[in-house]
Amino acid sequence: MIRRTEDGCIKCGACQSVCPVMRLEGYQRFPGPRRLAVEAPRFSRELAALSGPLQMCTSCAQCESACPSRLPITDAIMRLRARFGTSTEGGERMLRNVRQHGRTVAPVSRSMAPTEGSALFFPGCIGEARTPLSVQMTLDLLLAVGDGIYIPERWHCCGSPLQKIGAQDEANRLRDLNTSILEGAEEVITACPGCAVQLRRANGVEALHVLEYLYESITPSRLRWRSPRPMTVAIHSPCHLVRSVGPHTIDYARELLASVDGLRVVDMDDEGCCGGGGGVASARPELAARMARRRTDSATRAGAEVLLAPCPFCVVNLERAGGLKVQDLTSFLATLSENRQ
Ligand code: SF4
Ligand code: SF4
Repeated sequence: MIRRTEDGCIKCGACQSVCPVMRLEGYQRFPGPRRLAVEAPRFSRELAALSGPLQMCTSCAQCESACPSRLPITDAIMRLRARFGTSTEGGERMLRNVRQHGRTVAPVSRSMAPTEGSALFFPGCIGEARTPLSVQMTLDLLLAVGDGIYIPERWHCCGSPLQKIGAQDEANRLRDLNTSILEGAEEVITACPGCAVQLRRANGVEALHVLEYLYESITPSRLRWRSPRPMTVAIHSPCHLVRSVGPHTIDYARELLASVDGLRVVDMDDEGCCGGGGGVASARPELAARMARRRTDSATRAGAEVLLAPCPFCVVNLERAGGLKVQDLTSFLATLSENRQ
């Protein structure tokens, strides 16, 4: 937690004004990042009363980006939340699945790819269980344009969701289980921003998001796309991709989409979080759905037919809103690709 003697908070309120949960819920229901991370930890009684709001933080890190003192607000909230995290229904379900399947969500199928090679593709729990078709299309594209792509026989959850609910021992166990499969890979690629960040921080491997791999590692002339008809799309910027992997990823997404004949990319008037991160999708699904609706409404107002998200987690949550087609960005490119096998 951020301590009073060292917090350096100047009470500017910048974090409070950018927080998407606070904007939607208001101070009474969600007192905001400054209250939760900086002020409440000084008083343990107050903290106990804030256990509910702590579960509402999506870990989007917009507060942290706006903070002029560069305080680690999100980490502080996650650590405070860890005291209560495993006691929620969603947290317990996650732990059961991890102990039984090694994944936070029970897998429904296995992605088809070689089991040996040089560039390891890490499917991620949510991708393989909730958006298996997107993962397979992404893989097929990578197999067509990449070199030595494979998925190891056995892989486990990266541990990120476990860390967010305070199950650090489980997260460490998963990290160790993944160590041996990661060691032999020359490159590690994933379509999940959360997995990319966790594999970098916990396992110390330079995991690439698939957009980085496509843009940086594949010769652009090997990538050819064409839209079958004129189309208008919008891009949702996943919080963990933009703020933790890096803002360059969205530039890559825009440039890759700009190379598609017949495609128009429109800007949304309300940039922000889909609402599904930080365990909110399982702990507070109604809040996650309302936040998702803000994003899809914004895309609809901008005239988009499809909202593209380079993150399986965001895709699943944005689909909760209904009313607008949502698709994983890389699998969308795969449908337009002339490179597929
Ligand atoms: S991480 Fe996001 S949701 Fe959580 S307090 Fe900060 S701005 Fe609000
Ligand atoms: S943005 Fe940083 S300095 Fe400003 S109120 Fe929030 S925590 Fe304090």
